Amino acid sequence: MDNLRELYQEVILDHNKNKRNYRKIENPDSFAHGVNPLCGDQIDVYLNLRDGVVEDVSFDGQGCAICTSSASMMTVALKGKTEADAHALFESFHHALTDDEVHPEDVPLGKLKVLTGVKEFPVRVKCATLAWHTFDAALKKVQDDISTE
Ligand code: ZN
Repeated sequence: MDNLRELYQEVILDHNKNKRNYRKIENPDSFAHGVNPLCGDQIDVYLNLRDGVVEDVSFDGQGCAICTSSASMMTVALKGKTEADAHALFESFHHALTDDEVHPEDVPLGKLKVLTGVKEFPVRVKCATLAWHTFDAALKKVQDDISTE
């Protein structure tokens, strides 16, 4: 567990400092705005789809280190995935972080697994899931803003 904690901090710091895909996509196929009032995180997720595949995904906005690094890792994980696989990954990630019965090792999350370290800090779980909820809303072309509350 100590290794996971160390890795968790390392990865969060790295992605917070060197955000991947932190930019706006002009004229995206879809985008959504997400807020986490508990922490003050606010992000936009932009999405371009081509033949049912996530061709490009990016984010901008202001969030805490956990929100930002989760969003950054998310964009890396989702690029090139089919819509169905992208949605399935969102479900797995959400499930791993919010269901106490689930052991993170049992969920196929790849590199994202390190983010399950946030379960040790329950008030920050919404910071880690915000980008994903926002992405899923963009995927479903939900027009309303997304709030974790
Ligand atoms: Zn936050």
